[in-house]
Amino acid sequence: MRYENLNIWDGELSSQRQGALVVSDGMFVSESTDPDDQVRDMNGLFAIPGLIDAHVHMCLDPELKDPLQQTVPGKGKVTEDIRKRASMMVRAGITTARDLGGGEYLELDVRDEIAAGKTLGPRLVCAGQPITSVGGHCHFWGGEANGDDEAVAVLERQRAKGVDLIKMMVTGGNITPGSRPVDSQFEDQTVTSVVALAKQYGFHVAAHCHGTDGIRQAASAGVTTVEHCSWVGESGWGKTFDTAVVSLMANNGVWVSPTINAGWKRFTQKDFTEMVQQNYRNMKEAGIRLIASTDAGIPNVFHHDLPRALPVFAHFAGLSAEQVLRAATSDCAEAIGLGGITGLIRPGYSADFVLYEEDPLINLEVLEKPFMVVSRGREIQPG
Ligand SMILES: [Zn+2]
Repeated sequence: MRYENLNIWDGELSSQRQGALVVSDGMFVSESTDPDDQVRDMNGLFAIPGLIDAHVHMCLDPELKDPLQQTVPGKGKVTEDIRKRASMMVRAGITTARDLGGGEYLELDVRDEIAAGKTLGPRLVCAGQPITSVGGHCHFWGGEANGDDEAVAVLERQRAKGVDLIKMMVTGGNITPGSRPVDSQFEDQTVTSVVALAKQYGFHVAAHCHGTDGIRQAASAGVTTVEHCSWVGESGWGKTFDTAVVSLMANNGVWVSPTINAGWKRFTQKDFTEMVQQNYRNMKEAGIRLIASTDAGIPNVFHHDLPRALPVFAHFAGLSAEQVLRAATSDCAEAIGLGGITGLIRPGYSADFVLYEEDPLINLEVLEKPFMVVSRGREIQPG
C-alpha cells in the first residue's frame, strides 16, 4: 500500500516532509516492489508514528476504586475486558504500551493474541507481578518478597511466566492501605541484586518510586525507568528534590516516566504547578529524558486516554508539542526496549502510524481526533 500526499513527521526530525508512506507486510519500506500496489491519495493529512504509553495496567478497571474488587468478576471476564481496552487503545492511536503489573498474567495472554493478529490492540510488553515488600504496595498481586533471596525468587517466577521486563515497587504507593509513598520498601542491597539479575537475563527494570530515597536506590542500582518520580519527602509531594540523585540518574542513563494523566488538569493551584514545573526543568537541565505514561487503569484513568494526557504532560513538564510527541513515540520506544522496531516512520520499522486532519505539532489537542490508525500495517477505524 502506498499512502500519497501526506505531511509526515517521522518521530525524530524537527521538520515535516511532504510525501508518501509505503507499507509492505506490516512494515515501512522505501519503495514497493509490487507493480500492482494500491495507491491512495491522502489529501495532505498529517502522519505521526503510533503513540506509546509507557505505563498502563491492562487488568485494572478504572471505574473501580478498591483494588481488591478487580479480580472479583473472574479471569474470563477480566480477560474479555482487557481485550476491549486494547481495542479502544489502538483506535485512539496508541499502537504500543508497556504493562507495569497485574496479578494473574491475563495481560500476557492478550499480548500474545495481539501479536498473533487474533485480537485488535497495541503491541504490549508486560512485567507480570511487580516485586514488592511483604504487605507493601500492590502486594495483592502476589509479588511479595522479604529480602534478597525472596525478591530473586519473585523475579525468577516472572521470567518463567514469560514477562518482557521486571517491575519493582521500590517505594510505597497510594492505592495500598498501610503503604506510604515516601517510604522505601527494601534495603539498597535488595534493589541492587534484583536489577543486576534482571540485567543478566536481558530484562529492563521499571522502578515505582514516589519517595526521594527510593529514587536514589533505583538510580544507583541502574534501573531503566523511574516511574512517577514524585520527589516525596516527609514535607510532602514534590518537595524533596535532590540534585545529587538527579546527577546519579543522568549518569546512569535512567529515563523518567512521570505518569501525568489527563486528570492532572484538576491541579490548578499555582504553588503546586510551579513546584512540579521547576522539578522537571531541573531534571531536563541535568540531561534526564522523559517518556509519556499515564498509569492507565488506576481510578478514573482510562486506557485510551493518552492523547488527552499529552497536552497536560506538556504543560507540567514544560515540553513543546514536538518534544512531547517524541516522548510518546521514538524516545518512548527506545526507553522500553522497542527502539529499532517502532516509534519512528522509517523503512524497516513496523508500520505503526496515525493520521490526523490537522497538525498535532501545532496543536496537541488534535490527537483526540485521529482520522485513521495503522497498526503493523493494518488500517483501523478510530473510535
Ligand atoms: Zn502503575
